[in-house]
Amino acid sequence: MKIICIGRNYIDHAKEMNAPLPSDPIYFLKPDTSILRTKNFYYPKFTNSLHYECEVVIKIEKVGKNIQEKYAHTYYSEFTLGIDFTARDLQTECKKSGLPWEIAKGFDNSAPLSNQWLKISDFPNGVLFSLNKNNETAQSGDSNQMIFSFNKIISYLSRFITLKKGDLIFTGTPAGVGEVNIGDTLTAFVGDQNVLKVNIK
Ligand code: MG
Repeated sequence: MKIICIGRNYIDHAKEMNAPLPSDPIYFLKPDTSILRTKNFYYPKFTNSLHYECEVVIKIEKVGKNIQEKYAHTYYSEFTLGIDFTARDLQTECKKSGLPWEIAKGFDNSAPLSNQWLKISDFPNGVLFSLNKNNETAQSGDSNQMIFSFNKIISYLSRFITLKKGDLIFTGTPAGVGEVNIGDTLTAFVGDQNVLKVNIK
């Protein structure tokens, strides 16, 4: 199983990062050891600037390569929310030096994932989601605001990487990313439904 993450997929987030809008999806991978399925996340020693990025995650259901966009919808039917934890200080250094991002993005437990999967067909008008930090709204997202749709992402990725059953795609974060510290609690919602809670220890 692999985890593919899309960067800069919401205009407001690209703006807050002072980054140009991409003409094609930007992606990077996290290893399977980044998945966190328990409530507690232990703040890593190697960063002083850990950022949350709440994202819609889709799960690939069958193997595919060179998938045409018009058929991409047949490769997934469920989604949930996850957090793309980012060591922003390390990532900033990587960007300055033109180095890969894995050190900042792919560390252990950097991808907390809800175990509540929802049917995408129940959301014909798009997925509204949000992230609270200590009970205050930090991020609000609408999957209709993505620069690249789920189907476009799948089509693009499958030109380069064979997608397999069980692969996860983190589809990018909306604006409002920010720091978490020990003692903070993150809760993620689809509409009003709480699907994920992470305590920073
Ligand atoms: Mg992200």
